[in-house]
Amino acid sequence: MNNGKSILGDPEARRFLTELVDEEGLDVVYALLGREATDEELAEETGMKINTVRRVLYKLYDYRLASYVRTRDAEIGWYTYTWKLELERVYELIRQRKQRMLEALSRELDAIQGRVFFACSKDERYVPFEEAAELEFRCPECGSALEHVDAEERVQRLQREIQRLERELSVAADAHC
Ligand SMILES: [Zn+2]
Repeated sequence: MNNGKSILGDPEARRFLTELVDEEGLDVVYALLGREATDEELAEETGMKINTVRRVLYKLYDYRLASYVRTRDAEIGWYTYTWKLELERVYELIRQRKQRMLEALSRELDAIQGRVFFACSKDERYVPFEEAAELEFRCPECGSALEHVDAEERVQRLQREIQRLERELSVAADAHC
């Protein structure tokens, strides 16, 4: 059943999952690798509380990184949830996150590129020229003088970051689709 082990061996995928469910939740992921199991079985095997295990599973389910089948015990009438991982979806989630980041950085770049900025020498607050002129070149926070800043360094940093994301997104598209 899928290549969950190699997905967890991928530092980027592992980091994403750890952010989502914490190190503790990763124990549940490992316990469920390459198999199907109920939440009770997972709690027993990991020694974790059943509620903690369920929280991890539902978190994974929210992101469609796990799915379950519900069956009803005809005699006692209880429901049993049998879970399995859908870890390959992590690459799609990472791609979506990078795409959102890329869009945010591009918007920021558009907003600062070709514009003149002023900044407070004390708290480094950035203020565009028009606003700075209205403020008579005084920082609205601390009253210090606003000085002209060269936004070029920031523009270049944004451009580098955007290029890196675009490159990673195109590599990911080749590798996982
Ligand atoms: Zn200030």
